[in-house]
Amino acid sequence: MRVANVAGRAVLVTGDGVGLDVERASDGRFGADPQALFTDWGGFAGWAAGATGEPDVRFAPEQLGPPVPRPPQVFAIGVNYREHADEAGYPPDSAPITFTKFPTCLTGADAVVELPTETVDWEVELVLAIGTRARRLSREQAWEHVAGVTVGQDLSERVSQSAGAKPQYSLAKSHEGFGPTGPWLVTADELPDRDDLAISCRLDGETMQSGRTSRMIYDVPELLVRLSAVCTLLPGDLVFSGTPSGVGNARTPKRFLTPGEELVSEIEGVGSIRTRFRAAP
Ligand code: ZN
Repeated sequence: MRVANVAGRAVLVTGDGVGLDVERASDGRFGADPQALFTDWGGFAGWAAGATGEPDVRFAPEQLGPPVPRPPQVFAIGVNYREHADEAGYPPDSAPITFTKFPTCLTGADAVVELPTETVDWEVELVLAIGTRARRLSREQAWEHVAGVTVGQDLSERVSQSAGAKPQYSLAKSHEGFGPTGPWLVTADELPDRDDLAISCRLDGETMQSGRTSRMIYDVPELLVRLSAVCTLLPGDLVFSGTPSGVGNARTPKRFLTPGEELVSEIEGVGSIRTRFRAAP
């Protein structure tokens, strides 16, 4: 099942650029707000599995908002792929580096993002949406609490993230528009292998990152075990699960995003999002 945010309304995607408006197709059982689906994700998923009818919505990529627009919590994981840890020069850690991307940074699948500095970097990531409240999960329970996954970019301002004595990841990765997500939320049953997906991004057509999610140091179940050991995970939360190697900051010479460039981020079985960049006024 694929559910999109089309100009603020939840749409069950049934084909290429077409779908069912959730509020209309469910006769109002589920509202139009994509975030509100998480108040009863199980009920929604059950209804969606049997939903039929002629598509009543046509949409273009630029109409796609973030599939999870107002998550109560956003967890983000740093240095979670082996090759990225190597390129960044980080020794193995005993726990995943965890920070937040403040939710106002979220944007959709075809966004134009302003570059506040000349040192903004890309990080394509598998993003998980939590479907049901969870505390102290076991590995076996973890995937059951995932509503679906989407493609994300953890855009990062590299100078401010490490300008002080201690890392400043949360703010440096939360500038306006620094959390492109989409194109929609896909349930795990639609994925060829939920633990091993090709993940990549291209900048103006040139491949910058190309990896597989099976190369995570802490895999999805392990991340949810560790996060839920500390925090209660809430329906509609997001987890940015880390990025593979190939970021600009680790290149020689370093390379960052410039106005006019176009970044396409893709995950196997999910789809792709496009982010374009412009200068700050
Ligand atoms: Zn990241």
